[in-house]
Amino acid sequence: MLPLLREQWVNPSASYAAARGVRRALERARQQLASLIGADPQELIFTSGGTEAINTVHESVRALWPELPGLIIGATEHAAVLESAERWKQSGGWVKVAPVDGGGRVNLAALEALLEQGKVALVSIMWANNETGVTAPMEQIVALAHSAGAQVHTDAVQMVGKVPINVAEVGVDYLSLSGHKMHATKGVGALFVSRRMRFRPLIIGGGQESGMRSGTENVAGIVGLGVAAELMGKALTDGVGQRVTTLRDDFEDKIRKVLPEVQVNGDLAWRLGTTSSLTFPGLEAAGLLILLDRAGVCCSAGSACHTAALHPSPVLDAMGCDRQQAASTLRFSFSCYTTEDEVKQAVATVLAVVEKMRGLCR
Ligand code: PLP
Repeated sequence: MLPLLREQWVNPSASYAAARGVRRALERARQQLASLIGADPQELIFTSGGTEAINTVHESVRALWPELPGLIIGATEHAAVLESAERWKQSGGWVKVAPVDGGGRVNLAALEALLEQGKVALVSIMWANNETGVTAPMEQIVALAHSAGAQVHTDAVQMVGKVPINVAEVGVDYLSLSGHKMHATKGVGALFVSRRMRFRPLIIGGGQESGMRSGTENVAGIVGLGVAAELMGKALTDGVGQRVTTLRDDFEDKIRKVLPEVQVNGDLAWRLGTTSSLTFPGLEAAGLLILLDRAGVCCSAGSACHTAALHPSPVLDAMGCDRQQAASTLRFSFSCYTTEDEVKQAVATVLAVVEKMRGLCR
């Protein structure tokens, strides 16, 4: 990214010769990202992140297929999908929510029942959940949706770069991804739009991105995303996914060996190896979070904000967890750069902090 910021800072759309190298760098990034997800480079539009990509798809489908009023979303979607679904409703459409089972997986029979033939424009279901790492059976979702005449978008922000995926094989029509979930920088992402689909841009103006997303491109960010895609692709081929899963499992096993009451949330057979959602019965996640932060372990509460008891995580709620469980849940994340030593240190810190909290609660 640095040469693009320091030396090649010219506008890629300019007509002078120096711009051509910048444009080539941009197109190389498009190829790198396309090859990570099995797309054609021309099917990718660079965006400011996952949120913009998600909003763009929903708005495009709503505008281009007004005769199909229905949108179906999953029960554990990110706020970007939830808020955009609210707007779909405000614009005169209807939205139905496909429930998940206790492990957080979409219930396919319930989804099928919601898919009214010829009424649903779009099924928008996340491929992997941000709180539990639970993945969706995307091929089956695509088959069900397509047979009811609906298109499929997936929020794959948590999925891309963590496990190998191929959009052409799975058959999704649209996919959203975000740079900072795959070791690129924040504020860059992309939208895959299958070449089969018609598309209406959300952001119009100067006609960049072949008219699909106007505005001068964040070239350095995009180049970083391209390199991250290449690095993550190589890491996946080298079996790094299994190494991360082993580290995460080791983390959970070591904690549960000392604290057997700790519950692991999410379908154990269908989880990304990068996520661990743990419930510490009887302890407030908000307090644990503060003590862990002070001790150098950065994690998140399962809920959306600090006042966990007042706002239990909608994800855990959809999975049937009660308020108390949700308010006692923490989420830990792992990556291909996480080391065994860090895991060891994190386990020791979690155990010490739990001990301390218990002392405070006594
Ligand atoms: N979807 C999921 C599942 C996410 O985890 C996030 C970010 O955390 C987003 C969408 C939004 O992506 P961005 O922050 O790049 O807009």
